Amino acid sequence: MSDKIVVGGVSVDTRHWIGGRRVASPGTFPDHSPIDGAVLGGIARGGPAEAEAAVAAAKAAFPGWAATSRAERARILHAIADGVEKRLEELAVVETTDNGALLRSHRRGVMPRVAHNFRFFADWLLQLEHEDFETRGHTNHVSWDPAGPCVLITPWNAPLMLATWKVAPALAAGDTVVLKPAEWSPLTASLLADIAAEAGLPAGVLNVVQGYGAEIGDALTSHPDVRRISFTGSVPTAKRIAASAAAHLTPLSLELGGKSPLLVFADADLDLAVDLAVEQYDNAGQVCLAATRLLVEEPVAEEFTRRFVEKASALKQGDPRDEATDIGPNIHPRQLEKIDGFVQRALASGARAVLGGHRLDGQYYAPTLLTDVAQDSEIVQEEVFGPVLTLQTFSDEDEAVRLANDTRFGLAATLATGDPARAERVTGQLVAGTVWVNCFFVRDLQAPFGGSRQSGVGREGGTWSFDFYCDLKNTVTAP
Ligand code: NAD
Repeated sequence: MSDKIVVGGVSVDTRHWIGGRRVASPGTFPDHSPIDGAVLGGIARGGPAEAEAAVAAAKAAFPGWAATSRAERARILHAIADGVEKRLEELAVVETTDNGALLRSHRRGVMPRVAHNFRFFADWLLQLEHEDFETRGHTNHVSWDPAGPCVLITPWNAPLMLATWKVAPALAAGDTVVLKPAEWSPLTASLLADIAAEAGLPAGVLNVVQGYGAEIGDALTSHPDVRRISFTGSVPTAKRIAASAAAHLTPLSLELGGKSPLLVFADADLDLAVDLAVEQYDNAGQVCLAATRLLVEEPVAEEFTRRFVEKASALKQGDPRDEATDIGPNIHPRQLEKIDGFVQRALASGARAVLGGHRLDGQYYAPTLLTDVAQDSEIVQEEVFGPVLTLQTFSDEDEAVRLANDTRFGLAATLATGDPARAERVTGQLVAGTVWVNCFFVRDLQAPFGGSRQSGVGREGGTWSFDFYCDLKNTVTAP
């Protein structure tokens, strides 16, 4: 089996990247493209031995990287960003082939932001300080010490974007990294290893291991030399990781799923509200933040639904490499089965498909809107992670808030209203890590990002990322 996969003319190494060199495994696992289901090639199938080697490499590289000046760390992070920008088109093509998300958004949105992730945390590092203060004449000085080797585990829905939200601040903080990308989208993490090495990142500072979570995950998350675990993925996996990390009380950052609401009040600009709702089909609905529960005030519900169906029906579904495509495929046949299972069970228990409600040819699912759904039903309570929205109505603000918060998740919420006072009132009552008012998906890396309840533990972004990736130390000096 070859050590390379060639995608759109770009050669991607399929082996692990450990201690500054490529390492094969005795076995491989197949990587499929969701575009046509074709097998792109075999990826090194890591297990406990590779986990051990990668953590050992990260541990060995840690003292040197931790002692590297902030200015030098920032310089190398900017050089990685330069490398991402230089290979932007290659990264975009490889990511689209591997996970099926739109090439146009990889080109113009995602990959430029990947580069920005490195620049942002490099710059943030340089101004990261804490005011010294005095206690009875003693000086308190707070320092941000690098914590050690970090294990970063990421999902497939936005592979390089989500990986670099973790890799960039961890490296900036002076930590070393073992990154394990999802097995359904392993390729761009391998390219990132090449780019980081070309940018001058010392061997062992960034390691990338491939493999099935069930086979390599536990050896990484229960390892005594690992000082931080940052995970983005599903709630069931997070529970397994938390149990495994408990062996050494390793601090965890968890960015998990959601079942976020979009609240449409009768005073909203209805066209804007419809645009916001249709936007929830982006990435074929495979977005943790997606507002999949549309909650619409009764007087405008009929008109909202009419305009929504008209607009959503015009979306173009097809090959994600085509610039005109709005919705690409779903990631994997198993994910499609899961999505369809949710929809068919909802229909069988009385839901009505106002739009879609079925599979299409290939790995595509029809954009779906279900009404007549009960608040305590599976389709309203569980994350589908596909292009499936539900619509419920409410009669007043109290009911809107009650429905919005009646979930075990708390990742995000979106409001469409023309009344700023209402926006403030309602926002104050919502349980969510992010609330968008008359907008969606606007994210500044300075802001805290994360979920309440079972949507996560901790926050990423700006100083919050450094809080997690550093050991904060207070030094008290006598007068
Ligand atoms: P998943 O939990 O199945 O897998 C995520 C990662 O965990 C993969 O790399 C997988 O290999 C690994 N993994 C699996 N079992 C493991 C184990 N026992 N030990 C260690 N690692 C293990 O999630 P997914 O299906 O890849 O991603 C979809 C989920 O991610 C959704 O729930 C979505 O909402 C969530 N998500 C959250 C955010 C956020 O920022 N909150 C962002 C994107 C996705």
